[in-house]
Amino acid sequence: MRKNAKKIKIIRSPLVLQRLSKKMLAQKKSIGLVPTMGALHKGHISLVEMSVKNNNITIVSIFVNPVQFGANEDFAKYPRRLQADAKLCAEAGADIIFAPAPKDMYPMSLQTYVRNVEIENIYCGACRPGHFAGVLSVVAKLFNIALPSNAYFGEKDFQQLHVIRKMTCDLNFPVRIIGAKTIREKSGLAMSSRNEYMSKEERAAASSIYVGMLEAKKMYRRGINSVAKLKKAIFEKIEQAGGKVQYAEIANKDNLMPVKTKILKDAVILLACYFGKTRLIDHLEI
Ligand code: AMP
Repeated sequence: MRKNAKKIKIIRSPLVLQRLSKKMLAQKKSIGLVPTMGALHKGHISLVEMSVKNNNITIVSIFVNPVQFGANEDFAKYPRRLQADAKLCAEAGADIIFAPAPKDMYPMSLQTYVRNVEIENIYCGACRPGHFAGVLSVVAKLFNIALPSNAYFGEKDFQQLHVIRKMTCDLNFPVRIIGAKTIREKSGLAMSSRNEYMSKEERAAASSIYVGMLEAKKMYRRGINSVAKLKKAIFEKIEQAGGKVQYAEIANKDNLMPVKTKILKDAVILLACYFGKTRLIDHLEI
């Protein structure tokens, strides 16, 4: 982190940012974009730092996107703290925060969505109908507003990163997508803005997610490639700690299709579970 953080600009209007980005591109400046929903932690900041290192200008968007939340989800209670986030971004060397209000992003009801018709109904898509259409639509809008050369996303949201890469390729967005490793707490729990919903006890118990996935990875390394056996190990670890698994699947790493019986190629564990009322997602390549 930089000691003397520069003053960061906060822009609310899509049109103002789009004009500024056009100007910066005309001056041959490369723009890095880090889309977030705010309540920033070290995971987000690792993306900001990557962008600052590799671009002339870094824009961090902070927008709790209503369109990607279901009716009974945590849109209203999602943590919002723009000033603290702005300070962290400035310290990491970012130049601009784009923090529109929902009415700035959606002045009229959205009638045009971007969807991934293959992946939107599996894993998190099955649990959160409409979620990925909401994510892809807002990311497409952010690309058109911020005009980035490079955009940074965490592997933490593995399925999200996959559909964003596919959208960028399918729709020829002139943006390079850069995926970044998941930053974890000492306990192994993946950092997430939602971790703060949990009690101290739930948070400690949630480290079983990583422990369970590591156990499955070890079993695989020892030659056990049965999906059922690896899934059982993950379920057991999490449920013994008091968590409730929503799904735990093994997917082909390249196309994210579920591996049904035996793992034959590079694969990734994808899971979602609850500790108390908090829904957490995680992944591990095996
Ligand atoms: P969010 O604010 O949760 O929508 O996340 C914004 C971006 O930060 C997404 O690309 C996430 O995948 C990424 N991200 C969230 N948590 C982490 C983490 N623990 N490590 C790395 N990246 C993360």
